[in-house]
Amino acid sequence: MSEREQADVIVVGAGLAGLVATYELVRAGRKVLLVDQESAANLGGQAFWSLGGLFMVNSPEQRRMGIKDSYELALKDWLGSAGFDREREDHWPRQWAQAYVQFAAGEKRAYLHELGLRLMPNVGWAERGSGLASGHGNSVPRFHLTWGTGPEVVRVFRDPVLAAEHRGLVTFKHRHQVDELIVENGAAVGVRGTVLEPSGAARGVKSSRTAAGSFELRAQAVVVTSGGIGGNPDLVRKNWPVDRLGPAPERMICGVPAHVDGRMLEITESAGGSIVNRDRMWHYVEGIKNWDPIWPDHAIRIIPGPSSLWLDATGKRLPPPYFPGFDTLGTLRHIRAGGHEHSWFILTQSIIEKEFALSGSEQNPDFTGKDLKMTLGRTKKGPTGPVAAFMEHGADFVVRDNLRDLVSGMNALGSGPELDYDQVRREVVARDREVGSAYSKDMQLMAVRNARAYLADKIVRVARPHRLLDPAHGPLIAVRLNLLTRKTLGGLETTLDSQVVRPDGTPFEGLYAAGEVAGFGGGGVHGYNALEGTFLGGCIFSGRAAGRALAKGLA
Ligand SMILES: Cc1cc2nc3c(=O)[nH]c(=O)nc-3n(C[C@H](O)[C@H](O)[C@H](O)COP(=O)(O)OP(=O)(O)OC[C@H]3O[C@@H](n4cnc5c(N)ncnc54)[C@H](O)[C@@H]3O)c2cc1C
Repeated sequence: MSEREQADVIVVGAGLAGLVATYELVRAGRKVLLVDQESAANLGGQAFWSLGGLFMVNSPEQRRMGIKDSYELALKDWLGSAGFDREREDHWPRQWAQAYVQFAAGEKRAYLHELGLRLMPNVGWAERGSGLASGHGNSVPRFHLTWGTGPEVVRVFRDPVLAAEHRGLVTFKHRHQVDELIVENGAAVGVRGTVLEPSGAARGVKSSRTAAGSFELRAQAVVVTSGGIGGNPDLVRKNWPVDRLGPAPERMICGVPAHVDGRMLEITESAGGSIVNRDRMWHYVEGIKNWDPIWPDHAIRIIPGPSSLWLDATGKRLPPPYFPGFDTLGTLRHIRAGGHEHSWFILTQSIIEKEFALSGSEQNPDFTGKDLKMTLGRTKKGPTGPVAAFMEHGADFVVRDNLRDLVSGMNALGSGPELDYDQVRREVVARDREVGSAYSKDMQLMAVRNARAYLADKIVRVARPHRLLDPAHGPLIAVRLNLLTRKTLGGLETTLDSQVVRPDGTPFEGLYAAGEVAGFGGGGVHGYNALEGTFLGGCIFSGRAAGRALAKGLA
């Protein structure tokens, strides 16, 4: 079967970046074919599952919390984290970084506010960094949570796109898997692919790849917004930066749905597009297996407060600055250097109640459902419902009244190596000894006190320092932390208009890319490290750039 339709632009991928590009195009009266391999149930892609954390700079929310931020400080933090060091491959990413921080410090909030998106008042402090002022990490809290989380970020773009569908400006092509870009006289003019059999699978559930036909679609330009590679463990291992992060892990659990398969990267490359920085990626070390999985090997990331004691697979404490919530890839490097694929948190009931946040819209029904009463319930004693469910059903959780039983329980999980009770006890007791002293030499305890100097953290995010072995704060909890795949930091090289570049540096006529497939802009706006909450915003900024450039530039 071959289909022919009339449109100005074909957008490949109906995730956040694709929706934003489409929104900008239809605002300008352009006609769009929005093509996606998944069914309508998956509209919005990964963003639906996200926590809706948005990196913003010098926002009213920050100012109300007494946070002094500025474009200059944020750019310094960004560049310190990115560590751009490649002349050719970082040419566009450097320019994207500057433009993106400007967007985050300027227009971003108003752009989203106008669309109806609202933020929560307490700004979070994610990715505190490597411990040096000039190095990686956020100098101040910048993680703004969307009231309504990921589904709301999707909604504010989805609604106008659906309204444009009613006006005849948008045609959805669900279950259309693109296999090839059509290039004629050096310009992208369409796509070819496989029509997949209808799927009744719920959102996020892996769907069938059985073919039901073929299609060809043509337009003046093509925008690729197909996401990253995090759902394709083979590709993650193939691109793994062994020199920086040690050997690729044999086993990682999966932080994204199966549709994040990375196929469009190779398809676009074989059509003549340039891919840069493919060895840069952003995976987490605090992964727990979802006890109620939606997609294969479904991982949930703990977004931890700073107090849990972090031990490697052999029971040795991780060195500074590898504290919970500080330096994602530094910690990953350290864990891999020891040759292991998991690590451990040891904490108390008091810590889990205040400090465990789970990433994902479905793990935060109060914020996602915009339920104020339920949200206020977080201030009450006890963990959130989803955290309590993990404590009860999660394969990675051990809850015991005393340390000896806890270590036995950790060993019973059977991930090896066998933990020595005396070794674990030495680490716990040494840490506990420092709690009572106002002049502790323990850098993690110093960091906890620093975090509590920020009012929002003190109230909702960081437990009062206490001894782990104090029964008043018990029971004791151990959590086995697995490595999980998530974000792709490199990708299709693009100009500031999101136009794809060829390997010789010239723009590819008619071909644009945005979102994760473009390394969130330019082929790697984050460089080597992210400041967090920067991915959704990267989809919005680069999708907007593609949509606006095409809206202006087309015949
Ligand atoms: C649980 C979770 C929590 C997160 N939390 C945050 C957060 O708080 N803050 C933040 O900034 N980021 C967060 N992220 C990251 C962020 O959500 C993603 O990076 C972003 O949504 C990616 O959007 P995208 O449009 O580039 O790609 P995707 O959402 O992956 O969409 C791509 C679409 O393209 C389609 N597609 C792919 N290949 C083809 C093909 N060949 N033919 C047709 N269609 C194709 C796919 O089916 C998919 O629908 C989170 C992600 C997850 C999973």
